[in-house]
Amino acid sequence: MQDWSMRISHVIDHAAREASGREIVTHWADGTETRTDWAGIHLDARKMAQALLALGLTKGDRVASLAMNHSRHLVSWFGVAGMGGVLHTCNPRLFEDQLEYIVNHAEDKVMIYDAAFQPIIDKMRDKWPTVEHYICFDSGEHTTSFEDWIGEQDGEFEWVEGDERDPCMICYTSGTTGNPKGVQYEHRSTLLHAMAGLQTSAFNFSGSSVMLPVVPMFHAASWGLPYSGAMAGIKFVFSAVNDPAVLCDLMDREGVTDSAGVPTVWLATFQYCDAEGKDLPKLKSATIGGSAAPRFMIERLMKNGTRVQHAWGMTETSPIGTVGGPTANWDELTFEEKVEKTMKQGRPIFGVELRTVDLDDRSTVLPRDGEASGALQIRGPWIIKRYFKAEEDATDADGWFDTGDVAILHPDGTMQITDRTKDVIKSGGEWISSVELENAAVGHPAVAEAAAIGMPHPKWDERPVLFVVRKSGAECSAEDVTAFLTDKVAKWWLPDAVEFVDDIPHTATGKISKKDLRERFSDYTLG
Ligand code: ADP
Repeated sequence: MQDWSMRISHVIDHAAREASGREIVTHWADGTETRTDWAGIHLDARKMAQALLALGLTKGDRVASLAMNHSRHLVSWFGVAGMGGVLHTCNPRLFEDQLEYIVNHAEDKVMIYDAAFQPIIDKMRDKWPTVEHYICFDSGEHTTSFEDWIGEQDGEFEWVEGDERDPCMICYTSGTTGNPKGVQYEHRSTLLHAMAGLQTSAFNFSGSSVMLPVVPMFHAASWGLPYSGAMAGIKFVFSAVNDPAVLCDLMDREGVTDSAGVPTVWLATFQYCDAEGKDLPKLKSATIGGSAAPRFMIERLMKNGTRVQHAWGMTETSPIGTVGGPTANWDELTFEEKVEKTMKQGRPIFGVELRTVDLDDRSTVLPRDGEASGALQIRGPWIIKRYFKAEEDATDADGWFDTGDVAILHPDGTMQITDRTKDVIKSGGEWISSVELENAAVGHPAVAEAAAIGMPHPKWDERPVLFVVRKSGAECSAEDVTAFLTDKVAKWWLPDAVEFVDDIPHTATGKISKKDLRERFSDYTLG
């Protein structure tokens, strides 16, 4: 067979050749909208590659972006990889010291950013000595604008060739403990991951798909959607703002069939729909991941006639590890059974392997019996081997990467996240799943958000305390919440206390930060 180097340039060449006129729509932060297509992205990416070389960049150099989802950001995904560079998508929600750290650690040479993030740039500029060039995706007042910058080039350009194992993107974890860690994706791993995303058991794209990805392009490669979407030649609808009113309007006007986002995005969308008496009749497929999808969310989408893919992954896994979709004999299941299955995190897509090991010894492999819960480990061609600039591998000798999650593997291959290793609650020698407690609690109509943490207890070691944010204007007491949980979790799992709070701290990727919550309540005593 022929040699064919697995480089990202093949992906955009294919999209431009086979789906040239398929549209890429952007709703910009200033409310304007523009349309281009895969041929336009291809041309601009070549111009951008030329422009980067003209700045003196060479193969392997890192280019940072600080930007929301839009067509110019998409151009940079292919333009940077096409000149042999490495795109570093920075999360604008990181704390200042984290932003300082990651740009310096990656030694980014160019920073391309949205005008909306000018205040961050102004604050950080002096702290980023490696950054030689600043370019604004919008028409910046003091900075070269992206369109002007690439507009100087003609696009007559042959992609820079290289090894398929060369890096093309770097993403940092949000660093809930210590500094963020860099995960460098390779052309090959990215391409394989994106192909895996095309399996019907994953994103299930076809040429007729119209996708509005709400998951940010700065978070875990937007779950690989830009690449999988280019491979399938789908229409993309981007919004540079995350306002549910804008998103719902776009979904309706542009005929969006597919969307993907973290649970909080779906929550905000539903709240808007409820307030406005709207629905999402055109939405055929919704991917939820990044945190556990609660029951009511899955029920709501399924009742809307939407196929729900509950996905699990992490920055270290490119990020897709498992995706939930219809399983064997799906049509024979009741609605309730389908919801139950979908609440779990799905099955590994071809290419990755999972196992769980004993939480204490970290080596005894546990049975896939739907009961044993253990430390979740993963391996495969798009799973991390070593963090960027680290001295040692992040895996064991057999290639297994310990995810830091606690999970149960079921006999049909379904994986169920029960906790993070750091967050498990150990009561009387037994584990209590904080994720299950939280999921059950948010099913209460007055509860907007809930977080369970283990508090020291003289007899049981730890007992769960549930912190709850009420929905605005809603009433409920601690007794109401506990009563609601009674038939949903084991009796000994019921929290010893339910505390109402105004807000629960989140990480830069929108997950509940148990570390911050524990710090906030470090003086808390039970009883
Ligand atoms: P961060 O940069 O915050 O670590 P990641 O996206 O890499 O961001 O976080 C990965 C973690 O998110 C996983 O290890 C897991 O704990 C959690 N997670 C992701 N998807 C799910 C899901 N569907 N259900 C429960 N937890 C999830």
